[in-house]
Amino acid sequence: MDTALYQGWKNTPWSDPTIAWQGDGFVANGFCRECRRCCGPQKGDPPYPMPLMPWQLDGKEAERFYMLDATTSCLDERGCKALGEGGCTLSRSLRPIACGLFPIVCMEGALFLYRLCPASLCLPFGEWQSMGEKAALWLRQTFSVDNLHRLSLPKPSCNHDRYIPLFLSVFEVA
Ligand code: SF4
Ligand code: SF4
Repeated sequence: MDTALYQGWKNTPWSDPTIAWQGDGFVANGFCRECRRCCGPQKGDPPYPMPLMPWQLDGKEAERFYMLDATTSCLDERGCKALGEGGCTLSRSLRPIACGLFPIVCMEGALFLYRLCPASLCLPFGEWQSMGEKAALWLRQTFSVDNLHRLSLPKPSCNHDRYIPLFLSVFEVA
């Protein structure tokens, strides 16, 4: 799957291949500087939902994001409205929680690794599992169950193979 993409990544001289959990809901990812793939236009895919937390809903969210509904920002064929020339223009507190965690993704109460990210390819899977454990703990300690449910995306209707299970639950699914 996506062999040409993977080969391109393997041959890229990444200037900063550092990946580390920062402890505050952010995966520090040095690959992003040159990649920017997941903030830009998403061609041919359905809009990618990025739920916002109550404190991020201040009446100005539609100025910052393309909105899927009243409380969910999204990435679509236009890319993200908050992407500027030098990267994301928003402070960390205003960015969707999904942005800080990516390529770790919360779906149906569990964590997955998004396969189509150079960082997912270049860091050994065991290290992603260990980072996922920290992310799961941070999510459980930081958010109410209601907000965890809001952050958790439904499984996509297509492209399931892009998500690798980390086998880590964030909340029990009934
Ligand atoms: S795909 Fe991965 S490396 Fe690229 S911008 Fe997104 S998180 Fe960063
Ligand atoms: S809010 Fe920032 S980090 Fe998140 S998708 Fe938009 S530009 Fe990227």
